[in-house]
Amino acid sequence: TEKYDKGLEKSRKTFGDKLNELFANFRTVDEDFFDNLEETLIEADVGFDTAVRISDELKQEVKLKNVKSKAEVSRTIIEKLVNLYEEEGTDEDKELHFDEDAVTVFLFVGVNGVGKTTTIGKLAYRYKQEGRKVLLAAGDTFRAGATEQLVEWGRRVGVTVVRGPEKSDPASVVFDAIRKAKEENYDILLVDTAGRLQNKVNLMNELAKMSRVITRELPAAPQEILLALDATTGQNALTQAKQFKEVTKVTGIVLTKLDGTARGGIVLAIRNELHLPVKLVGLGEKMDDLRDFAPEEFVLGLFK
Ligand code: GDP
Repeated sequence: TEKYDKGLEKSRKTFGDKLNELFANFRTVDEDFFDNLEETLIEADVGFDTAVRISDELKQEVKLKNVKSKAEVSRTIIEKLVNLYEEEGTDEDKELHFDEDAVTVFLFVGVNGVGKTTTIGKLAYRYKQEGRKVLLAAGDTFRAGATEQLVEWGRRVGVTVVRGPEKSDPASVVFDAIRKAKEENYDILLVDTAGRLQNKVNLMNELAKMSRVITRELPAAPQEILLALDATTGQNALTQAKQFKEVTKVTGIVLTKLDGTARGGIVLAIRNELHLPVKLVGLGEKMDDLRDFAPEEFVLGLFK
């Protein structure tokens, strides 16, 4: 879609253009070519190991298939980027999972400021448009203003938000929300949480308690534990992800603010270093600036 194109403008201008330039100046596939390729990939935040891997595999393929022309090289690398992403997981695990017979619950985790609340607002909008009955739970009771912000999104989108008093137990907010969702036949409950990574033990206990409450009320839930990562923070995002993986069973990544970075290659690093699927990407601050992640569209979007 047009939006997907627009959201990748910055990445395309640097990463995509650099690769295009590399191909444009291509005469032979020699060591220089692969050095430049590695450098370009590393600059785009693909990650060191991933960059070397792409370059090595491409080298082998170029030899094997005796690739010589510019067009062939660029086609091979695009294929490589898409395949590298896709081979890491099954199709199944790239999708968002729903329970069609009971309330579906998605839990959102991630440090403050990465875009959790915004993503919940956007997703609430999407599901409401699809005709689903959506409920939100303000599970970040710790930070002043976090609840207000979610309530504001609820008002904008036109969905109900369950909230508790400041500093109250998030698990109790979640409990109330689930009861309400069950009684009033909601389709999906989106739960915001406090991302206090500074205190890992607390965070782990808090998330575990919430998960217990959810599973006790709805045995198949939560269907998703989505970790929001800010694409503009580059390799920092990877470090955060590794820490969150230690405290909770993350099922997928929401990569936010892709519109604000030239380093779209972080998508590949996430896939190859964390083995987690990117399920959603944020391409702006507005309600409809959320996309399902499609590797092929994404890679092609970089080269347009
Ligand atoms: P939270 O603390 O994780 O809940 O983060 P917020 O949802 O409050 O988002 C923090 C800031 O990032 C807000 O100003 C959002 O408007 C902005 N933001 C969130 N997602 C995106 C995105 O995809 N693109 C851009 N450009 N800004 C975003």
